[in-house]
Amino acid sequence: MPPELTAALALCRNLPSPPGIALRIIELAQDPETDLTAAADVIAIDMALSARMLRIANSPLYASRRRIENLGQALTMLGLNATVSLALGFTVTQDLVSPGQGQDARARAWRRSILSALAASLLGQARGLRKAEELMLAGLLQDVGVLVLAQSEPERYLPLLRQARDNDDLIALEREHLACTHAEVGAWMAEQWDLPRYLVEAIARSESPAAAEDNFQACVALSGAVADIWLSADADAAREHALQLVNETLKLDSAQFDQVLARIGEALPEISALFETTLISPARVQQLIDHAQELATLRNLREIQDAGLARQRADDFEARANRLAEQAHRDALTGVLNRRQLETVLEQEFLRATRHGWPLSVAFIDLDDFKKINDAHGHLLGDQVLREFATKLQEHLRNSDTVARFGGEEFIALLPNTTEGVALEVVRRVLASIVSTPMAEVADGPLFVTFSAGVATQGGYERFADVQDLLKAADDVLYRSKNLGRNRVIARSPGTATA
Ligand code: GH3
Ligand code: MG
Ligand code: MG
Repeated sequence: MPPELTAALALCRNLPSPPGIALRIIELAQDPETDLTAAADVIAIDMALSARMLRIANSPLYASRRRIENLGQALTMLGLNATVSLALGFTVTQDLVSPGQGQDARARAWRRSILSALAASLLGQARGLRKAEELMLAGLLQDVGVLVLAQSEPERYLPLLRQARDNDDLIALEREHLACTHAEVGAWMAEQWDLPRYLVEAIARSESPAAAEDNFQACVALSGAVADIWLSADADAAREHALQLVNETLKLDSAQFDQVLARIGEALPEISALFETTLISPARVQQLIDHAQELATLRNLREIQDAGLARQRADDFEARANRLAEQAHRDALTGVLNRRQLETVLEQEFLRATRHGWPLSVAFIDLDDFKKINDAHGHLLGDQVLREFATKLQEHLRNSDTVARFGGEEFIALLPNTTEGVALEVVRRVLASIVSTPMAEVADGPLFVTFSAGVATQGGYERFADVQDLLKAADDVLYRSKNLGRNRVIARSPGTATA
């Protein structure tokens, strides 16, 4: 970058700066010790950001079977890296498109950024990269230089922005009039903001796919050309141009590329809603999707299958690695979490709940007269009953709930973000269903079981000092259930001993 421009930018008073919340998320992104709890602490401060995180977790971009109902569940589902990347994307760009001079030119650049975010992420997916959110963030920020220049050097830059026929033209004009490109300015800005290194580098190379050092940078550098398919007046020419680049750099063939385009089209409405912009008219989206799908079906189906197969293999491999890691956490007989892992999960959830004031309910569940089942039908059948019971228990609870075997015929259900009243209702419903579900077949017909349970909640009727106190409280109420005649669920709060 020419020194006079650096100096001018450095002195510029109205340079966009990330809002305070973004600065805190940038800190998180740089701290190797960051965990989800720390991220949740920061995100929870900002209502709008929390709402967006919740919305993206429920969006088709993350096909989840159950509805995610609160921030805690959303962040857990997304995981730490995705959480931090998405939150950065939502916050860093927050005031870059504020009203003011050159608003339409800036709005166009912003639309291109969002399309690039999707394109980078979906190109990465097609190439088998497992960094969807980091790619999305890098794609989103690759043109940040345009917004920075428009805001800080409006007299010099806005005319170029309006005059440019397309991105290549803009780059040429920038070189001629500013002696540098918006990619350089964007990388400089990202550095000033202390954004993570991988972002600075991806932005710096975002206008030169051939200079990309790896597939990540290549996806980012190609994303703008892909975005232009949606923005350019001549979509077919833009597609040919993007396809050629994608084919040279990422080695995706035309059928794979058309699949990427189709996916972008499908994700557009959701991503527009997330960033509160209308990107493209729905009619145009449909037209492009139809076109891409038509081409994709006409082309060599075999290639698509091969790509699918390779992806399948990578997924299988990852799944196997995950399964192995999981086995150490599971109870060998029933497959639910073992006691040691329960303690880890419980500690985490307890900390999160206590910090944020989110409720955390624990149900201590003990099968009734289980000894009699063993005595009457033998231990093997008893084992089978335990397995069946654990499976049914898990089926009745949400994905975000945890079921663990505490020992023998005792189980724990952990219900994060659930009040005592709701937990009581849920566990009672489970009991009502269990009592009428056969757990095994014995000589004289189906075998049924009942259980007794006690529910205690952190952040409800009481606040417990630690996990042990919370568990003990649940165990105490379990005893009351047993003494009152078994086959019932009771909570800590007074007045729940009936039923
Ligand atoms: P209560 O209603 O008071 O809970 O009576 P209970 O018979 O269920 O309770 P108790 O604690 O007296 O007995 C628990 C029984 O569970 C005794 C033990 O042999 C059996 N048990 C514990 N672990 C296993 C196991 O892994 N497999 C089998 N088959 N039985 C087990
Ligand atoms: Mg027992
Ligand atoms: Mg028992």
